[in-house]
Amino acid sequence: MNAVLSNHDLKKLDDAHHLHPFTDFKELSAQGGSRLITRGEGCWIEDDSGNRILDAMAGLWCVNVGYGRKELAEAGYRQMLDLSFYNTFFKTTTGPAALLSAKLAEITPAGFNKVFFANSGSEANDTIVRMVRHYWNLKGKPSKKTFISRTHGYHGTTMASTSLGGMSVMHGQGDLPLPGFVHVMPPYPFDLANGMEPEAFGRLAARMVEEKILELGAENVAAFIGEPIQGAGGVIIPPDSYWPEINRICREHDILLIADEVICGFGRLGHWFGSQRFGIEADFMTLAKGITSGYVPLSAVMVGDRVAETLIEEGGEFYHGFTYSGHPVACAVALANIAVIESENLVERTRTDIGPYLRAKLEEALDGHPIVGEIRSEGLIGAIEIVKDRKTRERFPGGGKVGLMARDHCFRNNVILRGIRDSLVFSPPLTLSHGEADEIARLAKLSLDQTARDLG
Ligand code: PLP
Repeated sequence: MNAVLSNHDLKKLDDAHHLHPFTDFKELSAQGGSRLITRGEGCWIEDDSGNRILDAMAGLWCVNVGYGRKELAEAGYRQMLDLSFYNTFFKTTTGPAALLSAKLAEITPAGFNKVFFANSGSEANDTIVRMVRHYWNLKGKPSKKTFISRTHGYHGTTMASTSLGGMSVMHGQGDLPLPGFVHVMPPYPFDLANGMEPEAFGRLAARMVEEKILELGAENVAAFIGEPIQGAGGVIIPPDSYWPEINRICREHDILLIADEVICGFGRLGHWFGSQRFGIEADFMTLAKGITSGYVPLSAVMVGDRVAETLIEEGGEFYHGFTYSGHPVACAVALANIAVIESENLVERTRTDIGPYLRAKLEEALDGHPIVGEIRSEGLIGAIEIVKDRKTRERFPGGGKVGLMARDHCFRNNVILRGIRDSLVFSPPLTLSHGEADEIARLAKLSLDQTARDLG
């Protein structure tokens, strides 16, 4: 809270000086600037007009334990007093960095025992690109340099992580992707299966990766990267057949496999990691967001044993790192956050209780809704597809405008769901109560009713 300036003044300052991410600067200013968020508690945030808003997106898919948790605040406060900063370069470490490394090795799948810290998902993915290239050089296979990923994939916004991502609008700015980054079809049954049975479609989508490897030559392909469930691309949930086939393809063609767990990690799918849900046998995992529930920035690269051994035994000094790699305050907050997830059983609760409950409530509220083509979810992440024709799945014209209309209605109704193309997606805190799930379903229906009415 600012004791001197009014919220109105703060908004004016923001409008005058703040360039917001993923925002049309001119349009925002023309609309009178941003909505000011002033508080957060549990699954709710509050804006400057005193509106209480149910945050069914957990911020940016990250506030897994909910807002305003004393346990995390106190851990950060105590650590700042004890040792506010020390780096992990030059053969030093800190207690929280050591403890968090061990904790991550404990909770991640078998075969992950080493971690490299960064500050954001983007930085972690850039770190992986550097490690992968270094690895193949050490292995005497310097031609293995190309990364394969998927259309609608999202891996961050640095030059390399934007290149890894499959978002054409992002590539359009800054002449991306960089050379050596190629994209294949995502496992998106709703849009692409064309009536094909989902498991067969999952195998087909995986084989697109194999086709690309054969086209490029396996001797030129370094790694495949994918989110277990593609989040920002529209919560694309692959059929169960997809990832086992990807495992096989990567193994057979000697391609490293990277699971970008930035959204799926830390309980979101009702498992600690998406890799466990889908049986992904990855060489790297990217962790961020839910690692601290977004209270402070932190990310981590989990390096699988096979790659770690080469980097350690043969790599020499790795000339890479960030001033804040393993920041003690961030690590202390992450430890407190993981302790909350464990003590409140949030992973199991997401899988067996609140995840299925929210899904059932949405299905009940939206049963037969004229513009809803599908509701899909896994744990506490999901999407509602908006269509013109429920039977044929024909979309509305406008390429995503209807999704934004629905999103805006949600906003006015004081619930945050995100519009991605013509879908509404959700990813609430894992602490969501049954009453709050009822409220999400009620407000999603209200917003979709209003959208349908606007469309006439
Ligand atoms: N990877 C995935 C799967 C993400 O969803 C995101 C962000 O949404 C990132 C990477 C990038 O993380 P950051 O915004 O922390 O750089």
